[in-house]
Amino acid sequence: MNGFFDSATETLDRPGLRALQLRRVQGLFDEILPRNAFYARKFGARRRVTSWDDFRELPFTSKAEIADDQAQNSPYGTNLTYPLERYVKLHQTSGTTGKAPIRVLDTAESWDWWARCWGHVYRGAGIGTGDRVFYAFSFGPFIGFWSAYEGARTVGAMTIPGGGMHTEQRLHAMLDNDVTVLCSTPTYALRLAEIAEQLGLDLAGSRVRATVHAGEPGASVPGVRARIEQVYGARCHDHTGMTELGATGFTCQAQDGVHLIESEFVFEVVDPQTLRPVANGAQGELVATNLGRAGMPLIRYRTGDLVRVDETRCRCGRTLARLAGGILGRADDMLVVRGINVFPSAIEGVLREFPDVNEFRIEVFSSRSMVELRVLLDPRPGSETDLAELVANRLQDRLLLRVPCELVASGSLPRFELKARRVVRLTD
Ligand SMILES: [Zn+2]
Repeated sequence: MNGFFDSATETLDRPGLRALQLRRVQGLFDEILPRNAFYARKFGARRRVTSWDDFRELPFTSKAEIADDQAQNSPYGTNLTYPLERYVKLHQTSGTTGKAPIRVLDTAESWDWWARCWGHVYRGAGIGTGDRVFYAFSFGPFIGFWSAYEGARTVGAMTIPGGGMHTEQRLHAMLDNDVTVLCSTPTYALRLAEIAEQLGLDLAGSRVRATVHAGEPGASVPGVRARIEQVYGARCHDHTGMTELGATGFTCQAQDGVHLIESEFVFEVVDPQTLRPVANGAQGELVATNLGRAGMPLIRYRTGDLVRVDETRCRCGRTLARLAGGILGRADDMLVVRGINVFPSAIEGVLREFPDVNEFRIEVFSSRSMVELRVLLDPRPGSETDLAELVANRLQDRLLLRVPCELVASGSLPRFELKARRVVRLTD
């Protein structure tokens, strides 16, 4: 059960891996050019990539470019390599940045590719034949859980969809079916646990032995991971990916960073301002090229995710590079408070160390032209009255920042199933 999904590529030495990637980049170029109007326009006469120097001369692709192209060439834009009848799946992004969602099309081949990428995710978490995976999610237009659902067959696991159910029904479905793996956002895993406690259901004593999370950085935040592992009595695994890009990474049994699936993507880390490569191991923005989605490819796509990449071999034996600490945050999520950079995920990591905090909200407001924060805590019924002070003290210890905390009535803050929206910007 601890095996690899594809040991040949997962343990390839780094030069061998880089050579494989370069061959696949050229294969992708041969497939998409000149048929793909978007990239034919962008790359002009460039049709060959025979070295990494060639590759690094290619222009970046941004989400705004794809969105503008779709707005001008509605509904699917010009990043299409084949006639529309070749595509069999349509999904869309959640449009979190306040812009219209991006529509994404897959062919039968690229849908298989998604499933194989998920094979890496499942095998990394030790999931395979005999496992029953529950998807605590309303199956809507977002690709994440559809692709996860599809990918389970590549490792022989059983899928149990949890769409169209409320939280209590999902808990019973998990327990009645002896589910061994929960797939959800980290936020919703904790929501399930909160309701289980209210109903007197024993999740820690259930058959659930692994949880796989996506959509938020939580599963790589030590405090969040420890909380999930404690309430489920299970190993908590992270997974990274984007609708428009693919399933990019996973955590292995060593749980020491998020492995990047470098056999299916080329990854780079650049300074978000200068767009130059950062030094090995330094923090920067993750840029990715997907190698198995020729119908609607992304080449040198700026993800907006801030990361640090570790290329040393993992204890699990994989040579695939790792994101140290997972995705550290998104460039546009970072808050600067009194000169200190804070990611909301860092605040959540501290809050999750307190079992009496069920839910929270981070309010951002300006006071005398300065950015200030306040944290509202939604406590477990019957928790300690000095909880707010205890949390504020620990936030100060960890973040070196005084953040006022206030208790609100138990159950009064909104709960989330998809991406949680816990940072609220108050305008004055
Ligand atoms: Zn590993």
